[in-house]
Amino acid sequence: MPGFEIFGSEERKEVEDVLDTGVLFRYGFDQARKGHWKAKTFETELAERIGAGYAYLCSSGTAALSVALASCGVGAGDEVIVPPFTFIATIEAVLNAGAVPVFGEIDETLCLDPEAIEEVITPRTKAVLPVHMCGAMARIDEIKALCDKKGLILIEDACQALGAAFNGKALGTFGQMGCFSFDSVKTITCGEGGAIVTDDKALYVNADAYADHGHDHIGNDRGLEDHPILGNNFRISELNAAVGLAQLRKLDTILEKQRAHKRAIKAALARIPDITFRKIPDEKGDSATFLSFFLPDESKARNVVEEFGKAGIDACFYWYDNNWHYIRKWDHLKTLRSPARLPLHLLENWPDYQQVKLPRSDEIVSGAGFSVSRIAGMQVELPRSDEIISRTISMLIKLSWTEEELEQRIDKIVSVVG
Ligand SMILES: *Cc1c(COP(=O)(O)O)cnc(C)c1O
Repeated sequence: MPGFEIFGSEERKEVEDVLDTGVLFRYGFDQARKGHWKAKTFETELAERIGAGYAYLCSSGTAALSVALASCGVGAGDEVIVPPFTFIATIEAVLNAGAVPVFGEIDETLCLDPEAIEEVITPRTKAVLPVHMCGAMARIDEIKALCDKKGLILIEDACQALGAAFNGKALGTFGQMGCFSFDSVKTITCGEGGAIVTDDKALYVNADAYADHGHDHIGNDRGLEDHPILGNNFRISELNAAVGLAQLRKLDTILEKQRAHKRAIKAALARIPDITFRKIPDEKGDSATFLSFFLPDESKARNVVEEFGKAGIDACFYWYDNNWHYIRKWDHLKTLRSPARLPLHLLENWPDYQQVKLPRSDEIVSGAGFSVSRIAGMQVELPRSDEIISRTISMLIKLSWTEEELEQRIDKIVSVVG
């Protein structure tokens, strides 16, 4: 996930264009900006690169998720099916929309399992929000088919998967809307930024207006625009967009290098009998930001993590103990701890997480609408996800590794686990 590793003269040049005019804003100042429209150009090139009808840039990946949920009309009281392995931003966006995150189990793709989605659908389910974690895909064709069959909105969190594809079709383009992030650790970075993509013109129009206080952006003069709907401010600045534009133009080089590095490390790990690899439904479409693999059980995984640490093999993640990405350590979510009075508390059917007794899984009622016991159960009872994540290790694939560093790394890995 290396955008920050390759900041160079191309990024500087795009930023200088903006600094030369002093127009740091994406809207208006049509004369003063001397033809530089970095956000607009980024949008055009992004839509083209991933084969989407429309792209809208915004201030972050979290903003993209919020804009997508709003644009698709997902909000107060709606249930949204999410995975327990993601960045908390996915969950926050649902909560901040006033909707209810409902967790489905993951499978060995490390993403939402389509069959598990079906298990938690209720009459209140409005949308499914799969997350293409660590650069590769969920079983997105099956998830899409399920959403179509059940009439559910599909929004993809592809924040970590720019440039990845399933059978040649870019991740982020399967559902009604797809979301990307360009924050500090993503495949490309623009400091802070995000994007929504869609093929649906009406949804694009919603997003374009919602992210800028409902302005319709019709005509050249910002002052004369109409603002037919209520919205928010999730605008990106022209400076950030300028950096992102230069980075997007490097995407193919980034992917090529990551894939080569990943192949080399994977070949070394593949010689070790205890190790199996994350299931990737289309290996060719993997953006190769991470290499994720399984040990037979938790204790073996913990062992390997420890040995890697001792050997100085950095950039390895054991998500089961990680409080950024896996529900087990999300105490803030379990207690809904926030200074904000989340709209959920205004819903009569919102259970107080601290009051509810945690049921055993055999007490969990499904298909009973918004069931307190099911919601209470979901915070802790994800046995299949736990089983998978407890034996998963992921290794970040860096762009900046030299051939020599790569070889040394491989030698170290083999010496530890071999
Ligand atoms: C990074 C990330 C986000 C949020 O992106 P920001 O730009 O940091 O707001 C959302 N979902 C996932 C899976 C992410 O990795």
